[in-house]
Amino acid sequence: MRLTRSASRALQALCGELGVAYRASVISNGTCWPDDPAAFVREHHIQQVQISFDGLRTNHDRRRHYRKAYRSGKVRPSSFDRAAALVDRLVQVTRVDLRFNIDAKNAEDMCPFLAFAKARGWFSAPYPAIFQPARLASYSEHSAFMRESELALADYDRLRAEARAWLASIGGMEEAETPSGYPSPKRSVCAALADASIVVGGDGLAYRCGLQVGEAGRAIGVIATPSLSGIPIQREADNDDTWWKAFDPCEQATCRQCSFLPICWGGCPKKHLEQDRHALDEQGDYWRQNLARLIANGAHETLTTPIVYDEADQFRGGHADPASTRASG
Ligand code: SF4
Repeated sequence: MRLTRSASRALQALCGELGVAYRASVISNGTCWPDDPAAFVREHHIQQVQISFDGLRTNHDRRRHYRKAYRSGKVRPSSFDRAAALVDRLVQVTRVDLRFNIDAKNAEDMCPFLAFAKARGWFSAPYPAIFQPARLASYSEHSAFMRESELALADYDRLRAEARAWLASIGGMEEAETPSGYPSPKRSVCAALADASIVVGGDGLAYRCGLQVGEAGRAIGVIATPSLSGIPIQREADNDDTWWKAFDPCEQATCRQCSFLPICWGGCPKKHLEQDRHALDEQGDYWRQNLARLIANGAHETLTTPIVYDEADQFRGGHADPASTRASG
C-alpha cells in the first residue's frame, strides 16, 4: 500500500508537470485497503476498481486463504467477507467490476453469488457494480497445472448465457472479449504492447505484461533505486522486449487469414509469445459462437435461433496451417 501511494503521488506530480490528465484503476483481492476507501479513491483519482472473487465464501476462502503471519488467534479471517465489505463501500463512490473467476469446482456458486450481490445492493448502488465472469485459465508457464480445473469452453459459454439472463433487468455484465458489448474493430488489445508499458512486480523486477509477473526469466528490467521521485526502472535484460515491440497480429500466420481479425486483433499477445495453440484456437471458437449474438444485441434484437459460424466462414481464404503458425509465433 505504501508503494501504491508513493507511486500514485509521483505519477500525479509527473502528469501535472506534463499537463497530462491522470486517472487510475485498481485490481485487488479486496483484503488490504485503507480504513477510508472513499478518501483513497478520491486522493488517487481511481475511476474503476476490480475486485476478484473465486466463488462464495467457502470456495473463495479455500482458494484465497491468508498466510500464517496474517492470521491471529484461532479465528481464520474470511477474505470473502473482507472483500464483500469493501465492495459495499466502494459502490458508493466509484465503478466496481466484480470479477468472478469460474472453474469446474465453483461453477455452481455463480448464480448464488449474483443473488448475494443483488441482496447487498451492489447492482442498484450509486455506482452500479458490473459483473465480469472470467474462465479460470493457466495464464503463466507456472500455472499450467490449472488446466485440469478449466471449464470446457461450451460449459463456460452456457454459464455466461445464464448470467446474462439472470442480470437482464438487474445489472450490467461485461465479457472480456467485448468490453463495450459490441464487436467493434480494435486498434489495441493489450497495454503490454504500448511503447512504455511497465509492470512492476512484487519481486522488484519490471515486466512488459502483468501476467508474466513472477516469471523472472521474462523480466525486462529491475527497479533501480528505492526512490520514487521519477520512474526508477533500469533496463537490464532484453528477454522478450524485442518480440513485444515487433508483435503485429497481421503478421501471425493464422490471424492474417482470419475474418475476425479486425474485431479480435489476435487476442492476448502472450498466447502468441508462448505459442499456446489451445488458447488461440479457443479465441476463434468464441467468435464463431458469439459474433452473431453480439451483432444482434447491438441492434437491440435477440436471435430466436442461434447462428454459429464455422471454420470456413472464419478462414475464407483457406485454413491456416497450424505448423506455420507455430513457426511464426
Ligand atoms: S480469432 Fe484466432 S485467428 Fe482470428 S484473429 Fe483472433 S486469435 Fe487470430
